Amino acid sequence: MDQSHQATIFDKIIAGEIPCHRVYEDDRVLAFLDIGPLSPGHTLVIPKERKAHLHQLSDDAAAAIGRVLPRICRAVLQATGATAYNVLQNNGSSAHQLVMHVHFHIIPKFERDGLGIGWKPGKLDQTQAKALLTRMHAALEADRAR
Ligand code: AMP
Repeated sequence: MDQSHQATIFDKIIAGEIPCHRVYEDDRVLAFLDIGPLSPGHTLVIPKERKAHLHQLSDDAAAAIGRVLPRICRAVLQATGATAYNVLQNNGSSAHQLVMHVHFHIIPKFERDGLGIGWKPGKLDQTQAKALLTRMHAALEADRAR
């Protein structure tokens, strides 16, 4: 079994074997409060489909998440009074992913609490950009043909 199908604690939450503070649920999506919040209202939105990383999700699961994510963001904002927030989605342990089941963090931003980001922008190199686009367009075309 590859890593994309290994069970995690989130499967147990989906199955109701471990309790959670449920924010939202439908056939394909579950949202619940993060047990280690960066700020009050920190919420996780997960597909019920068991996949480790975003790029492994089926179109149906991805669409189901996309449909409700803004709604859940609105609920988080209304419930907390926050006017700013981050949506964070980590893929891979070197990218700070601890639970290997796709999840989107909705993290309200307050003056003191919320996500801190270290962001060091570079400069887009034109030659590199051209080469990247060629490879990315080819990858998208191959994916479309699958
Ligand atoms: P990540 O680093 O993106 O994989 O984040 C995983 C998140 O899952 C962390 O913010 C944890 O606090 C959260 N988490 C882990 N176990 C639980 C749980 N049982 N209930 C709610 N949140 C959890």
